[in-house]
Amino acid sequence: MVSSSLLSSASSIRKSRKTRICLDSLPEDLLVEISSSIAASSLSEVRSLRLVSKPFRNICDDQYVLCRLSLQETPLFPWNHDNETFSNFFKRCRKNGNPEALFRRGFIHYFLDNREHKGLKYLAKAAEKGNKEAAYVYGLILICLGGQTKQKGFKILSSSVKKPLMSTTVEDLVELRHKIEKIREFVWDHANPVMERLKTEYVREKCKCDGKTTMFLLARNPYGEDKDMNTSSSACEFCLWDHEVELFCKRI
Ligand SMILES: [Zn+2]
Repeated sequence: MVSSSLLSSASSIRKSRKTRICLDSLPEDLLVEISSSIAASSLSEVRSLRLVSKPFRNICDDQYVLCRLSLQETPLFPWNHDNETFSNFFKRCRKNGNPEALFRRGFIHYFLDNREHKGLKYLAKAAEKGNKEAAYVYGLILICLGGQTKQKGFKILSSSVKKPLMSTTVEDLVELRHKIEKIREFVWDHANPVMERLKTEYVREKCKCDGKTTMFLLARNPYGEDKDMNTSSSACEFCLWDHEVELFCKRI
């Protein structure tokens, strides 16, 4: 039989254990990891975390946390007229290698600021860091520009966007188009001269395929157990990316 004094001592041990757990006492590496995981899902959560304590505020400013920070909740341009704070925040994110911040900079430079060369550099960097939207836009621009860059564009899109099956590849592409569309709405609501130039420069790569890839892409409901295609062995890459370029350039 367990004595009451033993139970009370076990309870006091549990209580003392509970009181001893303090977030600030955890190793800094672990705190950075926790903060960066929160940062990757929500900027507002990080803002709350910064208010916990001074050490947490410093940790939230860590390079790794800023690099992983999700900017989904942040508009493309400042909406409260506090340009300086907004621009300094994005500058810090870019400086710390945040892929989303790099992508936004590249997109604005390329399509709005007449700084296409610099814009491409930012897009390339963001794509290298694994930003899918950047890889999508950068790859399609390179394909439109033609020449040697075209092959590079195919390679980037194939390695970052393409999935083993056409159905999942198309699903991912639809999601990417939707995300880019949302940025476009902020950036321009009428014909964009850079986009028009890209459309004019684009030359479709000739292929001798059986046309099944285009049929798959144009079909309203192409999925089915025996109707899917393998992107590497049975789909035509030229037809796949040509279809995507057409859609990318469509809304100008
Ligand atoms: Zn083809």
